[in-house]
Amino acid sequence: MTFTHDTEVSLQTAVTLANSALEPDTLTTVAQLDEFYARFEYTGRHERTRAELDQVRALRPRLRELLTADRDRAVELVNAMLLQARALPQLVRHGDWDWHLHAVSPEAPLTTRITVETAMAMIDVIRADELSRLGVCADDECDGIVLDLSRNRSKRFCSIACGNRNAVAAYRARRSTAPAQ
Ligand SMILES: [Zn+2]
Ligand SMILES: [Zn+2]
Repeated sequence: MTFTHDTEVSLQTAVTLANSALEPDTLTTVAQLDEFYARFEYTGRHERTRAELDQVRALRPRLRELLTADRDRAVELVNAMLLQARALPQLVRHGDWDWHLHAVSPEAPLTTRITVETAMAMIDVIRADELSRLGVCADDECDGIVLDLSRNRSKRFCSIACGNRNAVAAYRARRSTAPAQ
């Protein structure tokens, strides 16, 4: 494990959310937001309204900026996010989750909670000087964010689709340059 479990889940969540803005946008309906909420085991306030969906959608460029920032810029963004949300870290335990950090109330808007959770996770990444765990997809055409939590730092593509497309392209390139028999 590279980071604590809650940090890794928060990073994965933020990357998934930021990448949902890539074409084709996969967060355009309240039902898709519900799915995201359930998949990442959110608890607390969830309004299931168009307004909430729009707020979460609008958060995505900010998450992207933070997740792809250099270390010093990431510090500025994290500090601003925590200040703005008046974050107060508290250890909590709920459901199947052992002790972990929440820094805003479960009644705070979903966007505030996602923002603060991401900022709290980035604290660990910044302190460990592990920003190289975050990068942009190696596919030429793709701007997806890649979160590499693997031991050997081998992850280069944002999705299985991007990985497969590039494997096929590399295979074709090898075949077309291979000497005729
Ligand atoms: Zn929790
Ligand atoms: Zn990609």
